[in-house]
Amino acid sequence: MKVGVLAVQGAFAEHEEILSQLGVDYIELRNGKDARQDFDGLILPGGESTTQGKLLRELDMFEPLKEKLVRGLPVLATCAGLILLAEEISNDTARYFGTLPVTVKRNAYGRQLGSFYTEEQFGDLGKVPMTFIRAPYVESVRAGVEILARVEQKIVGVRYKNQIGLSFHPELNDNRKIHQMFLASIALI
Ligand code: GLN
Repeated sequence: MKVGVLAVQGAFAEHEEILSQLGVDYIELRNGKDARQDFDGLILPGGESTTQGKLLRELDMFEPLKEKLVRGLPVLATCAGLILLAEEISNDTARYFGTLPVTVKRNAYGRQLGSFYTEEQFGDLGKVPMTFIRAPYVESVRAGVEILARVEQKIVGVRYKNQIGLSFHPELNDNRKIHQMFLASIALI
């Protein structure tokens, strides 16, 4: 199994570290050639979605990755990555891959609550640590989207087919359950 990690901006090194710890091969995706390689799953890290979206196009990665996502490539998208996947962004006119049928709100927690930590139930994994950094949340979901986690009524984790979208950063804490869940889902495909 090999996982592609989008490595143009943001917290990609932390995801790579976890993959190494779990003994999973990965490749860094930095250009169109990388993005056209074969890999079994994709990680879209947190960071800054506007910058990531711009770089995806400039580096000729947008089309090949979109094509793979449309074909069903499993993806774990965190924070800015969730914004890249979302079909709609309520407070932004930008659209990126748009393969996840949800509406997200960028920087949804405002300035005061820009960053915070909590622990909440995540699907059937029990409570997991959740670090939020100027995070989006999911405002609404469409048919077929499973809600995996909420924090104070706001949706912060969803799954749709092979796509997992998170508002928070699981790579910034010690708990590996979400990465393991993602990797297990790839192994089953
Ligand atoms: N606020 C960022 C954005 O809108 C996302 C923050 C993050 O990825 N930690 O792209």
